[in-house]
Amino acid sequence: MSTPTTAPGPTAAGPPILEVRDLAVSYGGAVQALRGVDLSVREGSVVALLGSNGAGKTTLLRTLSGTLRLHRGRVERGEVLYRGGSLRGRDPAGCVAAGLVQVPEGRRIFTRLSVEENLRAGGLSIGGRSTRSADYERIYEMFPVLADRRAQRAGLLSGGEQQMLAMGRGLMARPKLLLLDEPSLGLAPRIIGQIGEVIREINRQGTSVLLVEQNATMALGVADSAFVLDVGKVSLSGPAAELARTDAVQRLYLGNAGEEPADRPLATTTGTTTGGRARTATRTLTRWSE
Ligand code: ATP
Repeated sequence: MSTPTTAPGPTAAGPPILEVRDLAVSYGGAVQALRGVDLSVREGSVVALLGSNGAGKTTLLRTLSGTLRLHRGRVERGEVLYRGGSLRGRDPAGCVAAGLVQVPEGRRIFTRLSVEENLRAGGLSIGGRSTRSADYERIYEMFPVLADRRAQRAGLLSGGEQQMLAMGRGLMARPKLLLLDEPSLGLAPRIIGQIGEVIREINRQGTSVLLVEQNATMALGVADSAFVLDVGKVSLSGPAAELARTDAVQRLYLGNAGEEPADRPLATTTGTTTGGRARTATRTLTRWSE
C-alpha cells in the first residue's frame, strides 16, 4: 500500500455516537482479526468502513452487535463506547434494545414469511401496536416496492428487494445507529445506486449509519467520512471525499491508477452520486490483495 494519508476523523457536527478504541479481537485464541482499531462515528453521520477480504470488517460489526461470542470471538483489549457507555458484556438483544441494530451480510430474511411478517419480526423488540403501525407506514413510504408486496412471501423478492426488506426490518427496531454489512453484495449497479439513495434517506431521517462495504464507489458516495481497514488495523481515515482522492484509495479500491491487480474485474461503474458527497466516477471495490 502507498503511504497512508491519515486525515482527521468524521466531519459531521454531532458528538460521537460510537467510539472504538484500540480494539483487538481474536477467534479461538489463535486468529488475530483486529489488532488495535480506533474508529468513531459522529451522531447523524454516515461512516463507511472499507477493506479487502479478511481485513476484519465483519469482526468489528460482530463486536458492535454483541454477536462476537457466537462466532467464538473474544475481545483481547480495548473498548467500545456507544453513546458514552461501554458495550462490554451486552448481548445482541441488549444492543438492539439500545438502538444498535445490524443488517447482516447476505440479508438473512425469513424467506417463507411474508414481507410484512419479516418487518414485524424486526419490530418485536419495541412497543405497542399503534407505534408499530406508524413504523410500517414509514418503512413502506421509504420502500414503496415493499408496500406493493406486503403480503407476498419474502423469498419471491429479487435480491435488491430482499436487501430493502432487510434494511426495513432493521429500521423497525428504530435504530439510533444502523450497522450495514455489505448491502451492495451481489446486486446490479443500478440497484446499488438505489441502495445508496436509501442509505442517505435513512440518515436524513435521523439515523447514524456505519456502512461496511467492498463497493468503495457507493460507500464513499454516500458517506461523510470513511475508514480503511487493512489486516485488522485502520490504515486510512478522513472525510469520504478527501479519502476518495488519496493515492492509496484511488489505486487500491477505486481502480483509477496505472497497473491493475490481476484479479480486479473491469469497468463496473455504479453511477452512484447519491447525496453528492464523493462524486468519483470509478469502479467497484473488488477483492483485492497485495
Ligand atoms: P470479508 O469481506 O471477506 O467478509 P472481513 O473484512 O469482513 O472480510 P472478517 O470476516 O472480519 O473480515 O475476518 C477477519 C479475520 O478473521 C480473517 O482472517 C478471517 O479468516 C478470520 N475469521 C473471521 N471469522 C472467523 C471465525 N468465526 N473463526 C476463525 N476465524 C475467523
